[in-house]
Amino acid sequence: MDLNTVSEFVPHPDLRDWREGDAWLAGGTWLFSEPQPTVRRLLDLTTLNWPALVVRDDGLEIAATCTIAELYEWRTPDTWTIEPLIKQCCDAFLASFKIWNEATVGGNLCNALPAGPMISLTAALDGTCLIQGESNNERRLKAADFVVGDNRHVLRPGEWLRAIHLPTSALTARTAFRRQSLNTYGRSAALLIGRTDPDGWTLTITASVKHPVQLTFSYEASEPEVREAVLDAIPDELWHDDVHGRPTWRRHLTLTFAEEIRQELTA
Ligand SMILES: Cc1cc2nc3c(=O)[nH]c(=O)nc-3n(C[C@H](O)[C@H](O)[C@H](O)COP(=O)(O)OP(=O)(O)OC[C@H]3O[C@@H](n4cnc5c(N)ncnc54)[C@H](O)[C@@H]3O)c2cc1C
Repeated sequence: MDLNTVSEFVPHPDLRDWREGDAWLAGGTWLFSEPQPTVRRLLDLTTLNWPALVVRDDGLEIAATCTIAELYEWRTPDTWTIEPLIKQCCDAFLASFKIWNEATVGGNLCNALPAGPMISLTAALDGTCLIQGESNNERRLKAADFVVGDNRHVLRPGEWLRAIHLPTSALTARTAFRRQSLNTYGRSAALLIGRTDPDGWTLTITASVKHPVQLTFSYEASEPEVREAVLDAIPDELWHDDVHGRPTWRRHLTLTFAEEIRQELTA
């Protein structure tokens, strides 16, 4: 859609020249999908040529501007186990080919929708977000803590998400994925991922809740213990409620999937 309040497009932005009314532009799939009455300038991040996917000794760095298509087509090193999980999360996108090819991993996190599958992926794989800001300052925080509510994240005005780092320990772990939506190509109503660690397993709950909820369990944790921990961690107001699913159903899916994942990872 035309954004008729936007008067300037900055194709090669100076990232430190942030003004009121600015918006970072990544794939634009959300920005151009609805009115943005407060936006005056669009600062294009995609021209900064951040390398999309960099394998390091300690893991993988995904640039915020890496597209869903690039991530999906990428072949992981042979010793990593998470290629199927990457594909499952990309497939969890309710996306036409236009969105698939333009939407970015960083844009998905910064959009901060409960059903953001890149939020699910990076949170579940113990990701760390690299956040940069105007005065050359940098900070890092867990991907699981980046989104704090429906369409709300931790970035301050003028800050941008530069990259997400996933550690090797998570990239070589066993994982279990469960997802449900109201219809085949619907937005996720619940998306849960389990990941093994040497001492136990980690459960990441997304889509059914307004922001990710992450819990760790020992391999001995029983079905009632997991169920109780999930219910304790999610107060009534944290269950997400919209046309893609009512809270009661999302709660039911979450508890069912948590148990399936427990059985799969502790078998
Ligand atoms: C038909 C349709 C279906 C969709 N389905 C889904 C879905 O299933 N799940 C889902 O989560 N979303 C969905 N979306 C929303 C959107 O397409 C995705 O969230 C997408 O990943 C956004 O990425 P983008 O690169 O296009 O971001 P943009 O639209 O460019 O930006 C999104 C927001 O993030 C900010 N931003 C982008 N990159 C950065 C950065 N690096 N640092 C700081 N801020 C940044 C922008 O300023 C903007 O506020 C859908 C949209 C449409 C139109």
